[in-house]
Amino acid sequence: MTTVRRLCLVLGDQLSFELASLQDADPEVDEILLAEVVEEATHVAHHPQKIVLVFSAMRHFAQALAQRGFRVHYVTLEDEQNTGSLAGELQRWQTLLQPREVHLTECGDWRLELSLKHGGLVTHWHSDTRFLSSRADFAAWAKGKKQLRMEFFYREMRRKGHVLLNGDGTPVGGAWNFDAENRKPLPKGVTAPSPARFSTDAITDEVLALVGKRFADHYGSLKDFDYPVDHAGAQTLWAHFLDHGLASFGDYQDAMATDEAFLFHSRISAALNIGLLNVRQLCADVEAAYWSGRVALNAAEGFIRQLIGWREYVRGVYWLLMPDYAERNAFNNGRPLPEFYWTGDTRMNCMSQAIGQSLQHGYAHHIQRLMVTGNFALLAGISPPQICEWYLAIYIDAFDWVELPNTLGMVMHADGGFLGSKPYCASGQYINRMSDYCRGCAYKVSESTGENACPFNALYWHFLMRHRDLLQHNHRMAIIYKNLGRMNEDKQQALWQRGEDLLARLDAGQSL
Ligand code: FAD
Ligand code: SF4
Repeated sequence: MTTVRRLCLVLGDQLSFELASLQDADPEVDEILLAEVVEEATHVAHHPQKIVLVFSAMRHFAQALAQRGFRVHYVTLEDEQNTGSLAGELQRWQTLLQPREVHLTECGDWRLELSLKHGGLVTHWHSDTRFLSSRADFAAWAKGKKQLRMEFFYREMRRKGHVLLNGDGTPVGGAWNFDAENRKPLPKGVTAPSPARFSTDAITDEVLALVGKRFADHYGSLKDFDYPVDHAGAQTLWAHFLDHGLASFGDYQDAMATDEAFLFHSRISAALNIGLLNVRQLCADVEAAYWSGRVALNAAEGFIRQLIGWREYVRGVYWLLMPDYAERNAFNNGRPLPEFYWTGDTRMNCMSQAIGQSLQHGYAHHIQRLMVTGNFALLAGISPPQICEWYLAIYIDAFDWVELPNTLGMVMHADGGFLGSKPYCASGQYINRMSDYCRGCAYKVSESTGENACPFNALYWHFLMRHRDLLQHNHRMAIIYKNLGRMNEDKQQALWQRGEDLLARLDAGQSL
């Protein structure tokens, strides 16, 4: 007769003591399973730093659980018995331990959840209460709505959590959203704080060696691994942001600068997504910083909007619309992802900067992802599954529930406008306004045609011309199409031709 009451499987992005499936766990009768499996490390070629982060954080969490008295079964990647998949490990340990119940908190990836549901081994599924809005809450909010707008969801979340509200329930500062005050370029003389640094311990060193050996063929460098791998380290990263980043986050949220990977961004996404930080605490700390007068409203509101607005909203969309969502391709794009996305080998300085730092740190901030690498993929008509795979592989914080809606919906507009009311398309002028990249570029941002002209310019107009039927009736695109209509035929023709030439080069496998 088994003595194990529950077996709790904890996944690599579930490293939280407050995880729902651990809440009633009793060290006397319940046991915990964590497993490093090759399937999760290779279903896309994840950046090696991401594999290090997840495996090292899992090992640290297993130790912390053991210190709390739990019997933890930890399967390393190199374990000879390792079946290579989480479903395989669950099956194996179920057979070995014969627990009366198997508990699991819902996954962050539709593919994985399906595979774990398939065998019917999990007897108790738990809603992931680390999020503020459950899958069911979001579905209830979405029900009957023709369009789901993040802004309205966000207001609901503010009301529900009583976040940044006056006593009468109105938003502090008289508006829900201070987005317009989040768009300043970085002025000369303003410098970003030095990032918090994290030295490795024996556990991380061992994982670094393992990953270096096993995943040498994955794109991305291991050299500069610099992320916290346990709860204490994540708190250090967070405190550093509160002290040095948050006050300027509001103003310079959208700014980009040469050789400045992080600017005033928090870098917390990976720690938060794997469970080392708690979104409720983050919001409370930011709100407290505002009420105590330490930061302005555009900083506090801007940051909270990302956390309880965008982050919760994209998760809701993902679980509402999967698995069909992943198949969407409104523009019918099919161009293969250019090789330079994996190497950074391009003369476009903005792309080379954004891709270069992504390979180096597994990190780029939101505007680099949206308006540089994302914008280029949209304008060039890259195949949605290929660009989604790139984002999922290259970023240290990338998990399917958050990467897919951001890439497929926000960047590629492949869902036909479900997530964003208009495509985030822009010419080189936007990049020039928000960064200093163009000054160091081989191309001229002031030119649209000709060999040295910024590729973003002609590709922008080419995109608008080739998708005129789909986009010209969108009222948010009206001014843009009016501007296009004002251009004389020759200019339009020249832009079209330059766009065609650039796309032909991509099709021939050449870099730009
Ligand atoms: P900060 O700029 O300091 O923002 C604070 C936090 O807000 C982030 O840590 C994150 O938790 C949250 N946040 C901000 N914007 C978003 C958003 N659009 N969606 C969800 N959360 C948001 N974020 C991920 O966590 N994982 C991803 O795989 C991911 N893929 C993306 C792909 C594309 C194409 C785009 C445009 C954005 C993606 N984002 C993703 C959102 C955002 O770019 C990152 O969360 C952010 O850059 C992480 O850096 P940070 O922690 O310094 O964020
Ligand atoms: Fe990017 Fe164009 Fe500016 Fe070069 S000129 S950095 S390609 S926007």
